Amino acid sequence: MTTSERTYQQLIEHLEQEHTQLAKELKHEMLLNTLVPSATAIEQADLNELIVMAKSSFIPNLFDLAMKMEKVDAAVCSIKLGMYGLCVDCEEEIELEELQADPAQPRCHSCRAHSRYHHDQ
Ligand SMILES: [Zn+2]
Repeated sequence: MTTSERTYQQLIEHLEQEHTQLAKELKHEMLLNTLVPSATAIEQADLNELIVMAKSSFIPNLFDLAMKMEKVDAAVCSIKLGMYGLCVDCEEEIELEELQADPAQPRCHSCRAHSRYHHDQ
C-alpha cells in the first residue's frame, strides 16, 4: 500500500464514522424538536427524507446539521460507487491536501474557484 492509498483509507474511515455520528445527531435533534412523531418513525425514515425535513424546518442548528449530513452522505455514496476523491464537476482527482482539510470536499480546487456556490473557502 502506498502512502496516498493509506491516506485515502484513513479519510474513508473518518467519513464513515462522521456519517454514523451525524445521522445519530440529526435524528436526536429532530426528535427534540418534535419534527417526527416518534423514535420508531425516525428509525424507519429514509436519511434523505430526514435531511429534506430538517432543512425545511429553518431551525438554525438543525439546518446546519442537515447541510453537513448531506455533504458527508454524498461523500459516503461516492465511496460506495468507487468515485471517492474525484471532483463531481470535472471528474479529475481532488488534491490530497484538499481532502485532508475536508474529507467530504466534493470539488477540486479549480472547480471550486469557478463555482458560483463557493462561499466557505
Ligand atoms: Zn473539478
